[in-house]
Amino acid sequence: MEYTHRTTATLGVSTTILSASSSNSSPSPSPSSLPTTVQGPCAACKILRRRCTERCVLAPYFPPTEPLKFVIAHKVFGASNIVKALQELPESKRADAVSSMVYEAYARNRDPVYGCAGAISHLQKQLNDLQAELAMTQAALLLIQCQQHEQNHENTAIFDQDKYFSSVLEPSWQ
Ligand SMILES: [Zn+2]
Repeated sequence: MEYTHRTTATLGVSTTILSASSSNSSPSPSPSSLPTTVQGPCAACKILRRRCTERCVLAPYFPPTEPLKFVIAHKVFGASNIVKALQELPESKRADAVSSMVYEAYARNRDPVYGCAGAISHLQKQLNDLQAELAMTQAALLLIQCQQHEQNHENTAIFDQDKYFSSVLEPSWQ
């Protein structure tokens, strides 16, 4: 019984989203016959102007307190694609998927040409620069260590010579 109810609810949700996104220009039709338990719509349903059912796939990840998150993700990916992506994933992976989609969407919004690829290449360049700097510093450190080592050797040699001469010459000085 309960299982059937769930399936109907899920199907109802995805059909609404598909029809909402396919008729983007016209205002969304007023939802009428959905099996619903309304407890304040999630950000997604509020923005799409549809009823948020108990089984809303987006509700756990788009709380009504953060509408911008959905607006930007919807603008870049489209609500139906977000729902499809989430439905294909196990529930344990969905929160991460939403976080990354939102991150990508923000990046695309900020940088319409390169999106998050821009952020990745910027970070990659930074990483390469730092690796080069590290290699240079390590080389410089090695050089200093070598010089110090040589100097120590020379010092000991000189010191030994002094000792040798002084010990040899000592009697004649006195
Ligand atoms: Zn919802």
